[in-house]
Amino acid sequence: MVIREINAKSILSASKIYTYVINPYVGCQFGCKYCYARYMKKFTGHFEPWGEFVDIKVNAEELLQKEIKKKKKDRVWISGVCDPYQPLEAKYKLTRKCLKILANNNWPVVIQTRSKLVLRDIDIIKEIKNCDAGMSITTADDEIRKLFEPRATPIIDRINTLKTLHDSGIRTYAMIAPILPGAEKLIEMLDGKVDYIYVDRMNYDYANMIYRKYKLENFLADGYFDAVSQDIADKAQKKGIECHIVF
Ligand code: SF4
Repeated sequence: MVIREINAKSILSASKIYTYVINPYVGCQFGCKYCYARYMKKFTGHFEPWGEFVDIKVNAEELLQKEIKKKKKDRVWISGVCDPYQPLEAKYKLTRKCLKILANNNWPVVIQTRSKLVLRDIDIIKEIKNCDAGMSITTADDEIRKLFEPRATPIIDRINTLKTLHDSGIRTYAMIAPILPGAEKLIEMLDGKVDYIYVDRMNYDYANMIYRKYKLENFLADGYFDAVSQDIADKAQKKGIECHIVF
């Protein structure tokens, strides 16, 4: 793993998903096999394989203190092209420092992670008046998870993380994306732990390539993603969980 400390030029960036996004790191130690963020390598000049490099924006706190004064208050997504709670965050605390600034300035926040390390910051998350905290969970089957996300938090720990956040009065969600085999069993596990879910599929061409690589061709039938997402939506409706299919 190639790890570098860098000084970034900016930190509070425009986003198409929410108004702003903060990525405290360039690269992601989790290195999920399907990660779309790997394509950003061509913009950042990295030659190492995805998951094998991380640049740490050590001036993130300083930048955010300045930028937050100049920009119009709106929702901030943490994060878009890295996991804000990848293992290096335990040491560097960049996400924690940025959250503290957002809390002090009363900005709305959406957190998205695959790591139980988010629980470390529950004190600050509770301070933010408008904060949704979510876990990305792609399957209920931990053997499938190990194939695609071997370095990220196990499924049961992510579910328990959501429960702890939810029980603390924080608005929680699960991002079931990309749908992997076993995703249809997630609603049972998420019941009572989330306020809403998002469901998204893998790009078909990419899914064809990656599912074949992992010998999961039987999941590539026409309409697979439509059928699974509808199944998830039906199960969610029965449990009273708001469901958004976003493809
Ligand atoms: S945690 Fe997110 S950003 Fe990191 S490798 Fe996995 S999908 Fe990509």
